[in-house]
Amino acid sequence: MRSQNDLNSPLRHIAPRFVKKRATCMVCGDKKLTPFLFLGKTAVANSFLTKRDLLKRELKVPLTVYYCHACHLIQLLDIVDRKLLFEKYAYFCSASTPLLRHFQNYAEELLKRFPAQAKKLTVEIASNDGILLKPLKERGARVLGVDPARNVVQIARRKGIPTIADFFSAKLARKILRKYGKAGLIVANNVLAHTDTLHDIIAGVKELLDEKGVFVFEVQYAIDLLDSNEFDNTYHEHICYFSLFPLTYLLKKHGLEIFDVKRVDTQGGSIRVFASHSPLRFPVKKSLSLLRLLEHKKGMDRLATYRKFAKRPPLVKHMLNQLLQTLKKHGKKIAGYGAPAKGNTLLQYCSIGPGLIDYIIDTTPVKQNKFTPGTHIPIVHPSMLKKSTPDYILLLAWNYADAIIQKEEWFSKQGGKFIIPVPKPAIHPVTTRKLRHSGQRKKKSSKKTK
Ligand SMILES: [Zn+2]
Repeated sequence: MRSQNDLNSPLRHIAPRFVKKRATCMVCGDKKLTPFLFLGKTAVANSFLTKRDLLKRELKVPLTVYYCHACHLIQLLDIVDRKLLFEKYAYFCSASTPLLRHFQNYAEELLKRFPAQAKKLTVEIASNDGILLKPLKERGARVLGVDPARNVVQIARRKGIPTIADFFSAKLARKILRKYGKAGLIVANNVLAHTDTLHDIIAGVKELLDEKGVFVFEVQYAIDLLDSNEFDNTYHEHICYFSLFPLTYLLKKHGLEIFDVKRVDTQGGSIRVFASHSPLRFPVKKSLSLLRLLEHKKGMDRLATYRKFAKRPPLVKHMLNQLLQTLKKHGKKIAGYGAPAKGNTLLQYCSIGPGLIDYIIDTTPVKQNKFTPGTHIPIVHPSMLKKSTPDYILLLAWNYADAIIQKEEWFSKQGGKFIIPVPKPAIHPVTTRKLRHSGQRKKKSSKKTK
């Protein structure tokens, strides 16, 4: 087994040969693509640095988001080699309590709606540490995981979840088919947006899925991204940002069809999509037409919608910098909470470094005693919060804001405040007028914040 300390270190050495520029849309192959969101050149989000790495030059890759006029997919075209991003992965789903709960409920829904399919064979693409397969297996499903991150696979196997350490592909699907037979359920959560081999994966699903089988997946939802100004959810691991428009196109291309969809609150807002072979054997749920209608209404098929969205991130950058700089001038101590990929986009785009944030706490051991990519803020064990209590905490893992604020109730009780950066910087609990003034007016009311 690899030492956990060496995880991620290859990322900082990304050479240009590991970055390729696509010229066509990931889903439909069209060439008419318009860039609309420019987040600068950033270091790859999960490439945490050791102290020694700080002396070396960090390679940065453009973080620009494009719109496809043909299938309406929003996507990155600067693609970092997936082997560098995913073969040693620092994200363990089961480390998150809200995610554990989410996947337990998810397992229950699958078993309730598709019991025969789950028992026949449930294959999960990018199964991580078995967070969904474990509760499925405990409730009688026959499960098989597939995940390229060998360190994560070892953990899944130790939990008794049989897992293949590889990227899912049409070729691997055929291998699984020969050994295990057809799958009644194929599940893929938070992975379709993270791959540039989408068609190969969906071709594999088509081959492996039983004729009465169901393909269920979750992806971050483009409507939530826009509505909540989640521009920080843009990073190099996350290549596509889906609405139903491109998903429908993609599945149809491989003889699959959506029959149900529901919105779920993971990852800042996602959709859980249910699909099967076309023509469908399952009744099409009303939720599908309702969501399609909403997408038309919101203009998810128009460039103007995305251009309008792109005007919001610069405002966050300006407001957040003004707030943090003012607090700092008044001697306030500010820490960061959580070092997720999105946090690294936010910090880099907003140019927030160790001059403003003293340290960031994170529960993931492989991130501790390292520095954030691009911005070089030290990441420490959560116990630091009580040893060196800050006045303010910037919530970088804002998608868990409610859970974090509840967990760290002691911090608010002794007068500490949280800063939630998006959709626009806000202080929790709601601050006094004096503090608000100091955040917005800089010097004028500076002394009042004391
Ligand atoms: Zn397209």
